[in-house]
Amino acid sequence: MQNTSVKQAYSVLMAYAVHKNDKNILLENSQFGEGEIYNDFNNTRAMTQNDIKKISIEMKKAISRRIPIEYSTISSLEAEKLVLEKKISPINNIEQFNNEIPIVKIDDFYCVSNPLEISNTNELSPDSFKLQTISGTNADKEGVNRSQRLTALAFSTKDELDSYNKHLQEAQERDHRRINQDMDLFCMSQNGPGLAMFQPNGAIIRRTIEEFEHFEHAKRGYKPVYTPHIYTTNVWKQSGHYDCYKDNMFLFDQDGKEYGVKPMNCPGHVEIYRNTAKSYRDLPIKYFELGTVYRKEDSGALHGLLRVTNITQDDAHIFCTKEQLKDEIVKVVDFVEYMMDTFGLETEYEISTKPEKAIGNAETWEHAEKTLHEALSSTKIKSYGVDQGGGAFYGPKIDVKMKDALGRKWQGPTIQLDFNFPERFNLEYTNANGEKERPIMLHRTVLGSMERFTGVLIEHYNGKFPLWLAPEQIAVVAVSDENEKMNSYKAKVAESLMEEGFRVETSSIRGNSLSAKVAKARRRRIPYTVIIGENEANNNTVSLHIRDNNSKIKDMPLDEFIDVVKQERKTKALKSILINNETQNINDNSKSTVAQPQNLNLLMIAARNGKLGKSGK
Ligand SMILES: [Zn+2]
Repeated sequence: MQNTSVKQAYSVLMAYAVHKNDKNILLENSQFGEGEIYNDFNNTRAMTQNDIKKISIEMKKAISRRIPIEYSTISSLEAEKLVLEKKISPINNIEQFNNEIPIVKIDDFYCVSNPLEISNTNELSPDSFKLQTISGTNADKEGVNRSQRLTALAFSTKDELDSYNKHLQEAQERDHRRINQDMDLFCMSQNGPGLAMFQPNGAIIRRTIEEFEHFEHAKRGYKPVYTPHIYTTNVWKQSGHYDCYKDNMFLFDQDGKEYGVKPMNCPGHVEIYRNTAKSYRDLPIKYFELGTVYRKEDSGALHGLLRVTNITQDDAHIFCTKEQLKDEIVKVVDFVEYMMDTFGLETEYEISTKPEKAIGNAETWEHAEKTLHEALSSTKIKSYGVDQGGGAFYGPKIDVKMKDALGRKWQGPTIQLDFNFPERFNLEYTNANGEKERPIMLHRTVLGSMERFTGVLIEHYNGKFPLWLAPEQIAVVAVSDENEKMNSYKAKVAESLMEEGFRVETSSIRGNSLSAKVAKARRRRIPYTVIIGENEANNNTVSLHIRDNNSKIKDMPLDEFIDVVKQERKTKALKSILINNETQNINDNSKSTVAQPQNLNLLMIAARNGKLGKSGK
């Protein structure tokens, strides 16, 4: 059976069992997720956990009772009768069925449903579904829930259910809000919904990414700009955003004028472009800004760092000629790939084409879409999807999904063509013949937003940030805090590392025993814990606990360790370069593979030659 058919069958079976448990509770609506069934029932009586148990037992009983499942169609009149008899819920948009309403019947239970792929309840398995939660949904104006939602997981086999359950559990364990409790990365302001704040540890990660971004943008010919956070609404009226985007904007009056907080950076960059006359020799022009924009979101959509009100985009606008367009798109795609590769994320591309309502003539659209296809095909991207009609009204675009360590996809970079701005703001350049022409305008991000990207990284790495990004890079602890010799050597080690610019934790890693200190550093996901004992103090060495494979190394010369971490930071290695296994997966929690110190020189040479670092690539 197809996935959807399986879920449809269990959805009907669930509705049957709910009805058997309480004749007054009727199914109103069903929706399916990846593995989930969401069944909404009327709220004649609020169901409880106890009901969930009973319903689950009832479903299993129905499977063992081998009940035939009948399918028929009935007229609208017959359907109304069933509604009056409280056997089915009132049917929305009944006209769509054209007087042939599909009905599935089990015992005395009726359900509006297309025919199932099974004809008997015993074709389903009692072990491959699981009822999960009951929650209120669809509240009316008085805040009273008009329906209640019962969520379940359902698959063809028990194995599929188990593996999906495991995946969900992993995702829950990696929830960035949960990891945040161990690492103190960010918090949400109490003074407004969705306003994310970065605490020092999160700020280090973000600043490190931002510095990296500035460096990489400069290398590729982007020029940094800064633009204001507020403008009078004239600019949004001119751009057209005021009409269609006003409800999502923060607006206020000042000195009799209406202002808006920017929901996007484009108008500022356009104004800078227009500030001086441009010639074809100036193009392409690329303005880059880590610009924070503000958008009102439904409070239900807000989610930790992944969906916030203050969004800092790594935003750039490229102004180029028609002839330069393809080349510029290729460069952006290569840039995106370079960045994703550095962070160990995989990518998926999709081109969105002309929607029904669009500005610009057909020829312009055709040329633009063709250019997007040609550009993508000439990069290393082997395949990509096409969302027919999914483009914005002002131009086609390329969306990039980032795939994390659990295979989940996140909305990330975008490359968007714009026919609207150049027209509305009368953008021009002088061509080789001295004539005025419109430049092509591209909006693009290569990571998306700093808030979301940081949130995705927390979950992707499970908080175990690569050394170059880790807010706390190296913990240095002594076997005994009372031993003077150990303590003075510990201070020396810490100082040597800090002189090389490492973020070193010493006094904050406290504990009654060495193992308690190591455990604390582990919980904070610090890549290396340097352990100082008598032996190390006497021989100018360090012993290490390596976070990434939970292994230990004894008596490494201090100088050698400093060289290793410098190398690891420089190459932006995703995992410790002391792990002698470059293909080790990020999910691998295998314990105590002890790396051998004698392999270090080899490993370092490999790292220098770029053979290590990007795990799994
Ligand atoms: Zn833009």
